[in-house]
Amino acid sequence: MDASDIEGDLAHVLLTEEQVRQRVAELARQIDSHYAGKDPLMVGVLNGAMMVMSDLTRAMKSHCSVDWMAISSYGSGTKSSGVVRILKDLTADINGRDVLIVEDIVDTGLTLSYLVQNLQSRGPTSLEVLTMFRKPDAMTANVAVKYVGFDIPNEFVVGYGLDYAGRYRNLTDVATLAPHIYE
Ligand code: 5GP
Repeated sequence: MDASDIEGDLAHVLLTEEQVRQRVAELARQIDSHYAGKDPLMVGVLNGAMMVMSDLTRAMKSHCSVDWMAISSYGSGTKSSGVVRILKDLTADINGRDVLIVEDIVDTGLTLSYLVQNLQSRGPTSLEVLTMFRKPDAMTANVAVKYVGFDIPNEFVVGYGLDYAGRYRNLTDVATLAPHIYE
């Protein structure tokens, strides 16, 4: 669905499907060139990274492998719980691999910093991070993010894989919610 299908639920559209599509294509070109001949392992963080992983890997012109992790984050609210827990671990052994973490959004960077430390301890040849969206607070966190789709304002957004209480992941645009949705 797009923003016009659920107009009453949304406050404003931050990024359209087309803007996101163009940016993903640019990121895919950078990754193609950075990982030329390397067959990187793309590690997606469920469930939010589902859209970016699927669009990014299809926009790439070179080989890659895909694996997934699930870690706890916000629950059904809009504030970070501060609790990071592995709910589903990787299937692949990343020792000696070129690993690219694919994230939907980095807010405080808490989740990401845990994930980077955890994966680093498994001995990858290289470990980089791509996030589709990044909020201002992430700038102060001690995590290097190599690829950023969009720097966005400090607002709670949904769409393109991002949910509120499990919904809106299938919204093709990225938007903020109307206040009555939270109430
Ligand atoms: P952090 O640990 O960086 O504060 O939070 C990262 C996680 O919080 C993301 O993976 C995502 O699940 C959730 N999150 C942070 N900001 C937003 C947002 O604006 N919208 C949604 N839907 N989830 C968010």
